[in-house]
Amino acid sequence: MNLESKIRNIPDFPKAGIGFKDITTLLKDANAFNQAVDDLSMPFLEKKIDRVVGIESRGFIFGGAMALKLNAGFVPIRKQGKLPAAILAETYELEYGTDTIEIHKDAIQESMQILIVDDLLATGGTAAATIRLIQKLGGEIIGFAFLIELDFLHGRKKLGNIPIHVLIHYDNE
Ligand code: AMP
Repeated sequence: MNLESKIRNIPDFPKAGIGFKDITTLLKDANAFNQAVDDLSMPFLEKKIDRVVGIESRGFIFGGAMALKLNAGFVPIRKQGKLPAAILAETYELEYGTDTIEIHKDAIQESMQILIVDDLLATGGTAAATIRLIQKLGGEIIGFAFLIELDFLHGRKKLGNIPIHVLIHYDNE
């Protein structure tokens, strides 16, 4: 199945100039959702993964399903103020202002093998802040899995040489 055909593009959402990639049209189709989880997991099936880290909020949907497939635990990275126990926080730059994401300090231990999952790689700011959080806890990031990459934003330049697995590329809005 062509997964790209299941993504709905919404022009000028949430503001003018942004082409929003709506994945709800993929998720509601059982075959498409299944294939997306299978294809995202494929390169990591033979690896030992301790934790799949999913980024709020659409990273939870794919990350949770992938964790089951990969026999790994699941760890959420959340927006500021949502996690109830002791946390580490990282702040990163947005076009206007900053954003902060958090992880539970006890979610990852030294030398654990980590796979990071989100629905979409745009500027890479969120993913780069996620790397910093995991490295502070001593985790070893073995890869990234994104359903979609917006190639024209060059977000992968912020991710160093960590392997990046992507199913759908867009080279313009
Ligand atoms: P960034 O930090 O710029 O790489 O942004 C990544 C986060 O923003 C991801 O969690 C995406 O879900 C969301 N995002 C950014 N741009 C878009 C877009 N055009 N369509 C849908 N989601 C987006």
